Amino acid sequence: MLVVKKFGGTSVADKERIFNVANRCIEDYKKGHDVVVVLSAMGKYTDELISMAQDINPRPPKREMDMLFTIGEQMSVALMAMAMNQLGVSAVSLNAFQVTMRTTSAYGNARLKRIDTERIRTELECRKIVIVTGFQGINKYDDYTTLGRGGSDTTAVALAAALRADSCEIYTDVDGVYTADPRLVPSARKLKEITYDEMLDLSTLGAGVLHNRSVEMAKKYGVPLVVRSSLNNRPGTLVKEDAKVERMLVSGVALDRNADRVAIIGLKDEPGIAFKVFDCLAKKNINVDVILQSIGRDGTKDISFTVDDGNIEETVETLEENRGRLSFDRIESETKIAKLSIVGAGMISHPGVAAKMFETLYNENININMISTSEIRVTVLIKDSDADRAINAVHDAFGLAE
Ligand code: ASP
Ligand code: MG
Repeated sequence: MLVVKKFGGTSVADKERIFNVANRCIEDYKKGHDVVVVLSAMGKYTDELISMAQDINPRPPKREMDMLFTIGEQMSVALMAMAMNQLGVSAVSLNAFQVTMRTTSAYGNARLKRIDTERIRTELECRKIVIVTGFQGINKYDDYTTLGRGGSDTTAVALAAALRADSCEIYTDVDGVYTADPRLVPSARKLKEITYDEMLDLSTLGAGVLHNRSVEMAKKYGVPLVVRSSLNNRPGTLVKEDAKVERMLVSGVALDRNADRVAIIGLKDEPGIAFKVFDCLAKKNINVDVILQSIGRDGTKDISFTVDDGNIEETVETLEENRGRLSFDRIESETKIAKLSIVGAGMISHPGVAAKMFETLYNENININMISTSEIRVTVLIKDSDADRAINAVHDAFGLAE
């Protein structure tokens, strides 16, 4: 059996935790399994690297950021190999170059394209535990790239797919996937299982347990995932194909506080305007979410949308640069907002789910700014100051509490 095990930053934050992870991996190894381990940088080391960079240059070149980022993961894999060695098991650490993990060229937000498995296979055949850096890749210029914050999950799933692993276990500091973030909603409950689609929405919408691209990739290649804690032996949450999961009307409630809203006021009401607006943002690799366009009046219209707060300055700048081409009256941005979503595969066959969410918010006297929906999701934009109250009320209304 070949297992891929991924451990996040908190699971390798210090010496004691590193040895805890080493022991867990050795347990599998001693059962005769082939073990591939993917690691994140220790603790909050990636954040520390960002502060270090910003202290030198508030807007550092993305290529240089990636060059800097890669040392975080490199440090944890090397220390882990040393720990296993200390415990009498032979292990080898490999970075993205040594494995050869090719990505697209976009620094800071690259996508994995191809992973060579040869080196890993050779090391496994020598009965070594193979420890691979998460989060990083190399592009066609042979430069380091990174996969976006939290990207180590994606490295693990991609490796599991490439190696046709029998299982892919994502170890974190929580016991699994919850109906809502337990830090915000004390009554949140751990889910036994969840579908890829639900998990994809929840992770895109701020659940924070898994990198959304890892779920996308797991779905594409049919890699079943287990999300569990590195600090205990509880079974965790299984993420898999729908057919096998009991359908809940709503499986989870997610809150994303990192969204900012941008409104472009007074655009010309003519064909091609929305295309021009989103095209210039796409060219800068800026992800846009919840979009709302007003009905045209007196030859003009407004378009509003949300972006990640890290992108707000670049968004406004890009729009200003294209003012000539887009011709609008003004831009307004609002940062104190939050995106609240409910996700559930059961919505497909049950009407009235959205209405129930809106009623709950109405009862709490919370105003809805924008709404967006899909087959299995309803998202509303609300004031950040209402967010805690809103998520608890909605979580209760759908009977998700323990
Ligand atoms: N170390 C990276 C981060 O903090 C990648 C990861 O943890 O998955 O974002
Ligand atoms: Mg993570």
